[in-house]
Amino acid sequence: NKQVVLKNYVIGSPKESDMEVRIIKMRLKISEGSNAVLVKNLYLSCDPYMAGRMRNPDSDHRSFVESFLPGSPIMGYGVAKVLESGHPNFKKGDLVWGITGWEEYSFITSPEALFKIEHSDVPLSYYTGILGMPGMTAYVGFYHICSPKKGERVFVSAASGAVGQLVGQFAKLMDCYVVGTAGSKAKVDLLKTKFGFDEAFNYKEEQDLEMALKRHFPEGIDIYFENVGGKMLDAVLLNSRIHSRIAVCGLISQYNLKQPESVHNLFSLIMKRIRVEGFIVSDHYDQYPKFLDMVLPLIREGKVTYVEDVAEGLERAPAALVGLFSGHNVGKQVVVVARE
Ligand code: NDP
Repeated sequence: NKQVVLKNYVIGSPKESDMEVRIIKMRLKISEGSNAVLVKNLYLSCDPYMAGRMRNPDSDHRSFVESFLPGSPIMGYGVAKVLESGHPNFKKGDLVWGITGWEEYSFITSPEALFKIEHSDVPLSYYTGILGMPGMTAYVGFYHICSPKKGERVFVSAASGAVGQLVGQFAKLMDCYVVGTAGSKAKVDLLKTKFGFDEAFNYKEEQDLEMALKRHFPEGIDIYFENVGGKMLDAVLLNSRIHSRIAVCGLISQYNLKQPESVHNLFSLIMKRIRVEGFIVSDHYDQYPKFLDMVLPLIREGKVTYVEDVAEGLERAPAALVGLFSGHNVGKQVVVVARE
């Protein structure tokens, strides 16, 4: 069984050399009486929160999910096929998505947490992205946390990524004016030409983020979908409208810093009566069926599109994961372990 293993707890930004690929002998058989399932992993998802899981559990920078164990495979969301099941809800041949190991085959001991894949007329890899955790994040964050109204002015950071590209498209479906930021010209072009954002800019090329936002939102921002934090959040606070909302989804610019940056413009929260709300997608998984009912037809009718960045093979998984923190990925970062 080929595996990607965490070598040691990580300090600072994760590096490829913090992980290694190894092959171990494993008996691929469920033990008698166990209710585990044995799966063959097909697609793995690279997600920013995984950096936090690589840290020492005693560190201030750990994830809200428990740390990985050095010497054990990395764990994360993925799409898999059931090879053998000791659980009454699953049978051989079922396709599932949920938390699995970064390896060719995994024993999943709490299969109740897996989602069964019922619709396979769309690419299976979509269950790591638009039809999986990031899709649900965009859905919950935008429709529930942002309380959007038709025609509002929406700003999205890390806008070309797994979550951001969908938030922008959901906002356009509500006739909002939507602006996104990303870290390269190619991504900025993608936002405007592929995802239908009204405007987009490269935050790395702006000397003054406050002025850049003023240029794009002369009347201010109603909704900010926060994926990055730091200086961008400060600039947004200065450009927010009265009664605007900020959904705090992620703060990727802060995840690997020894000392997170301070936010300076908090006084705007009072002056502009801004509602700021953080959320964790897994608290909202009860809404998954409702989400699928909404998004599947949008995909099938071509009203929503999705861009993936596909790395072939487990060997490429460490680089793919690390690349999230330098913006190497264009769209949702997926790793293909096997196609069926
Ligand atoms: P992406 O697919 O957007 O990949 C991460 C992107 O972040 C990179 O491509 C890069 O794009 C950008 N980035 C990296 N470092 C920085 C930086 N220092 N400053 C600004 N941008 C940076 O990731 P996701 O869409 O999967 O996740 C987006 C955010 O949502 C993350 O913060 C993540 O942690 C969060 N999240 C939160 C969830 C929740 O339940 N609250 C669930 C899922 C995700 P660029 O080239 O534009 O810089």
